[in-house]
Amino acid sequence: MWKKFRITVLLVVLGVVATVTWLDKASTTSWDRTLWVGVFPLNGDGSDVTARYIDGLKVEDFASIESFFAQEASRYGVKIATPVRVDLYPSPHELPPPLVPGSNGLQVAWWSLKTRLYARRTADVPGRPRSPIRVFVLYHDPKVSPSVPHSLGMQKGLIGVVHAFATQSMNGSNNIVIAHETMHTVGATDKYDLDTGTPKYPGGYGEPERSPRFPQRYAEIMAGQRALSDHEQEMPETLRDVLVGTQTAEEIGWTRH
Ligand SMILES: [Zn+2]
Repeated sequence: MWKKFRITVLLVVLGVVATVTWLDKASTTSWDRTLWVGVFPLNGDGSDVTARYIDGLKVEDFASIESFFAQEASRYGVKIATPVRVDLYPSPHELPPPLVPGSNGLQVAWWSLKTRLYARRTADVPGRPRSPIRVFVLYHDPKVSPSVPHSLGMQKGLIGVVHAFATQSMNGSNNIVIAHETMHTVGATDKYDLDTGTPKYPGGYGEPERSPRFPQRYAEIMAGQRALSDHEQEMPETLRDVLVGTQTAEEIGWTRH
């Protein structure tokens, strides 16, 4: 009797989680209304430089993400003028749970669950609408941390955790990372070699049909870099140098329009 009850409860919980995930996916890849992305800035290194940078952030600093999605979606025939709107939220009082580099599958699953609970705890701001996609951006002073941990975006839970640099001159590349992780939350996959960083051909090229093939003029958003040759690549400075390739567009549901 007790065992049956426990199994029933477990099945109901699994059913609810699966339904929520399915509904999230359906509502974020239909592209028939604006998708709201909430950016939650956080002080990643606890420094005064980063605190001052976060204090000075304005929603306009993220405008290039909106125009990137608008321009690229329209190229694929998406009808709405503003497919993605970015809203800036106050800084949460606690940092998201850290993901230890080299974690195994089970550890990543556990981290992902903890991060979903963290998002639930911190991302509801009184008086502000709840954004379906939540991107937690941990800023670091580049003088203290010239390199930062990997950023992540998860379709399950619609959450991004981005590591970015606390300096105006890096706003352009920070926005590329935020756009990349937002793309993950709506189903896009990486299109670069995880060991070398080399964009994969053809999906990771901005213009795979271009002749001569090198140098590529644009980076593909899920490759992150612009291929200069088959083994050299360059980081673009702003989203103006980035495109959404056909494969990514298919993954996020843009080509059904
Ligand atoms: Zn990625």
